[in-house]
Amino acid sequence: MNTLPDDLISKAQSLIAASRRPVVFSGAGVSKESGIPTFRDALEGLWAKYEPEELATPQAFERQPELVWNFYQHRRDTLKDCQPNPAHYAIAALERDKPETIVITQNVDGFHQQAGNQNVIPLHGNIRENRCYYGCPGEWPQEAVPEGDTVPPRCPQCGESSLRPNVVWFGEMLNPALMEAAIEAVDQCDTFIIVGTSGAVQPAASLALKALEEGKTVIEINPDATMYSERATVFLPARAAQVLPLLILGGMERPC
Ligand code: NAD
Ligand code: ZN
Repeated sequence: MNTLPDDLISKAQSLIAASRRPVVFSGAGVSKESGIPTFRDALEGLWAKYEPEELATPQAFERQPELVWNFYQHRRDTLKDCQPNPAHYAIAALERDKPETIVITQNVDGFHQQAGNQNVIPLHGNIRENRCYYGCPGEWPQEAVPEGDTVPPRCPQCGESSLRPNVVWFGEMLNPALMEAAIEAVDQCDTFIIVGTSGAVQPAASLALKALEEGKTVIEINPDATMYSERATVFLPARAAQVLPLLILGGMERPC
């Protein structure tokens, strides 16, 4: 980040300071410095022999519900050793300072909420929650499930052994209410901050394109350029945990 020109940093700082309704659009890169493995990286050890379609699709859950449940228990175990990082805490500070801040995240780790953000749209769900495979209304926190449970727990509504992680699997639709809320957030925002997302996953990626097309002020933070970078008002090629505290807190990193 030392290589980032000061004028780019101060430009992004002033744009954020002047914003009243910022939206932060985040992806896996924000959680990278918390040590969260990507989906592929989670396929290690006992899980290395499986393809994603065998573990993260509705068909897989119908075929082998216990296998899928146990894979997600493994992913939740990994999460227990990780914490939000200074990027998450800076984004939480942004919401404290500007209460109309909205975070639209593709991450399922729940770290934005844990760091203190309240206005979070978890487009791809939250791995710390469960819901009924058959669509009964409601979400239940993972803490409600007895530790070490190796079969999908019973749904409190229909009584089937059908609780599944509250995440969007391959081939599934996003929750339409969340997508609608995200579209409205883009329309209403004045500044759109893209952090740690490649833009490869649709329809989430279309939200950033929408912000660009609507002429919003767009700030992008990513060590590598993406399809958004050339069109952003400011592109900062840097790590989120390094640059966000600087932009939002003036360099003061919060303890995490
Ligand atoms: P992606 O893996 O496609 O892209 C990650 C982006 O982050 C890349 O562009 C990379 O250059 C950038 N990056 C890497 N390190 C960074 C850092 N320190 N600071 C800032 N940026 C950094 O991820 P995506 O765009 O979020 O899409 C992948 C899909 O996988 C999503 O659907 C998401 O739900 C899912 N996913 C979620 C998690 C999570 O919950 N933490 C983790 C992995 C994948
Ligand atoms: Zn049910």
